[in-house]
Amino acid sequence: MRFQFVCFIYIFIASLIPFSAHAFTKDAVKCVQNQLNDTGFEAGSVDGLVGGKTRRALDKFQAEYGELSKRRLSRNNALVYCRLIALRLVHLKKHWLPSAGHLTIVFGDSFFDPEKDQMLMRVKIRLLILEIYNKIKSDFAMELAAPIKIVVAGSHSDATKMYNEHTVYRPRNHRSVIKRHCSEKAKVGAFALPRLIVLCFHSDETDISNKEQSRRREAIAHEIVHAYQYQLSGTITTSSQSTFLKSVGPSWLIEGSAQAYGVHLAYRVSPAAAVPFLKKAADKPVPALSSVDSRADLEARLSDTYFVGHLAMSVLLPDNDFRKLILFYEELGRTGSWKPAFETTFGQSYEEFREKFRAKYR
Ligand SMILES: [Zn+2]
Repeated sequence: MRFQFVCFIYIFIASLIPFSAHAFTKDAVKCVQNQLNDTGFEAGSVDGLVGGKTRRALDKFQAEYGELSKRRLSRNNALVYCRLIALRLVHLKKHWLPSAGHLTIVFGDSFFDPEKDQMLMRVKIRLLILEIYNKIKSDFAMELAAPIKIVVAGSHSDATKMYNEHTVYRPRNHRSVIKRHCSEKAKVGAFALPRLIVLCFHSDETDISNKEQSRRREAIAHEIVHAYQYQLSGTITTSSQSTFLKSVGPSWLIEGSAQAYGVHLAYRVSPAAAVPFLKKAADKPVPALSSVDSRADLEARLSDTYFVGHLAMSVLLPDNDFRKLILFYEELGRTGSWKPAFETTFGQSYEEFREKFRAKYR
């Protein structure tokens, strides 16, 4: 077995300071308002804005049905509440976002070239995505309150066009994001935004190699994990470094989870078994966990973040229980604070884990 992981995939939680989070989060706030009104806790008019009335109604709901989250309701975390309220009172799922939990797949223009017959290729890619999505759905067994959309671009212009058409969320640096992951040269590139995954695959090859197929599998799985992380943790628009770490969790964990699961799905290896094949950052000693936990680290030290993240998974998941990775993000949505969520999920404090990691990879 020979494979090598690549750092072409990147979560943009790192640079997610949007032009406007408003339209994006409004529907999630409306969901919460509808749910509250529906149960007799008057949240007022359903306007998608978090005001005192909505917050007070939510407090009353939690006083009666139990605490859902320790976090103060905001536009950022409204989707978390929209989901958790309906997990408590199932009939309120009707207020979840349209097509909640479903996947839509859209192909770019270069997959409809009148000169070529690309139908079989589109079918194959669609089946591959569906297979992986369904596998993840059953592995994680976690209902989502909003849909996920995947666009498959065959070129840089495809990616730009589809991003503009389909994204509900616009980070300031979207141009460079698209350029980096969907250049004309890249055979497999991908990135995730809340509720949208952009895959960049070649559109002119009918017979792709096994290696490329595995990379596609890895990329699809990796980005779908990010889609779950976004929806479950519910903190996306934070701009300060300290808030980022506290409420989104460390970068090595975000990327390590997505990578370990993607590699597991594509190559059928556990995080521990994959370690000898990791692309090391030269022969440097293994960087400390704390050196790759902030947003700035994710941008500046991407390959270290992946590397350390994957090693951490090999220590953190000795039983290969990938569901824990997703439970962590759900717990993060409830607590808004990553260390308690870590301890609840993995049964050890972060400090204990850090010692274990240091002892193994010093
Ligand atoms: Zn990633």
